[in-house]
Amino acid sequence: MIDYLKDGNIEPKPDSWYSDGLRFECQHCGSCCRISGTVRLSHSDVERIRGYLGYDEETFRKAFLAKVDGCISLSENEDDECIMLDCRTHRCRIYAVRPIQCSTFPFWPELLRNKHFWDRESIRCPGMNKGRMWALDEIKERMLKSDG
Ligand code: SF4
Repeated sequence: MIDYLKDGNIEPKPDSWYSDGLRFECQHCGSCCRISGTVRLSHSDVERIRGYLGYDEETFRKAFLAKVDGCISLSENEDDECIMLDCRTHRCRIYAVRPIQCSTFPFWPELLRNKHFWDRESIRCPGMNKGRMWALDEIKERMLKSDG
């Protein structure tokens, strides 16, 4: 269980259902990049990705960004896939500098709320419950990072 502290921050209890750690290793299947949705970008996400791709601000904004519910998001292609998905290799073109929302997946508070949510998401993501074991401290660090 995740405790919400008085200041609004989140804190996993030492006896959380995942206190012994969780396995996750991205299998680069591209499944999560094909689901239409918002990939929220912070200002530092935007600048990091733009610098990596080497575009000027205006070209980058027009080619890759969209405004969704008042937030800056990566835009989608005509098939509603993430604009950064390389359809030939099924890989993320900016994996090395991907947004915080992507790099902290699947250690998001809503997925760690209980094992049911985690297991339900793992049906969609073949990397969950596989590969590298993440310790509680590492999970906590990503969870806090994902929360803003
Ligand atoms: S669905 Fe999971 S395994 Fe597939 S690309 Fe996304 S994070 Fe990686």
